[in-house]
Amino acid sequence: MERGSRPYRPAFPEPFARVVEALRRLPGIGSKTATRLAFHLLLSSDEERAVLTGALETLTSQLVPCRDCRNIVERDPGNPESPLRCTICRDPARDRAILIVVEDIQTLYSLEKSREFRGLYHVLEGRLSPLEGISPDKLRIRELLDRLNDPEIKEVILATSPTTDGEATALYLSRLIKPLGIRVSRIAFGIPVGLEIEYVDEITLIRAVEGRHPF
Ligand SMILES: [Zn+2]
Repeated sequence: MERGSRPYRPAFPEPFARVVEALRRLPGIGSKTATRLAFHLLLSSDEERAVLTGALETLTSQLVPCRDCRNIVERDPGNPESPLRCTICRDPARDRAILIVVEDIQTLYSLEKSREFRGLYHVLEGRLSPLEGISPDKLRIRELLDRLNDPEIKEVILATSPTTDGEATALYLSRLIKPLGIRVSRIAFGIPVGLEIEYVDEITLIRAVEGRHPF
């Protein structure tokens, strides 16, 4: 191979290339992994492939958003149009005085995995972004305010990302919620556990100092 020339890439037949391309669009999957996965699928049995295609087909058709928090719930086969509440919202052991606002369902599940948070959730389905044209009406803010009519709710924790858009979203929400007489708090941002402090960037370090707690 000549210096500077692009490495030779043999072209795959169209049906195979299509699968590689579809997989490559998934987050965290590069061309190499996509190709490896496509070969794996090619060599799998029909039954193995059917498990995957079947699961993908029902991914959206059998799921509906929770009526209260927008988490995903399995559709009631007997009554497919009925609005349902998720297992968290239905759980009588949850603390109904605290609501944590997250951008997406993935964050909800990350928090759930820790088993530390026992309150309720509200999924915004995004964050405000003037650049991407995401205005308040595109998020589940109206639904959040409706929920806050419940006098049982005493505190709202804003758990949007520590990015410019995430911070702007938190600020916007706090201005709407505080006048309702509900306590508003922001999650603390800090240093990843297990990381040497000298490797932490300044902004993260300052945020960690700001978010300090009594010891
Ligand atoms: Zn729910």
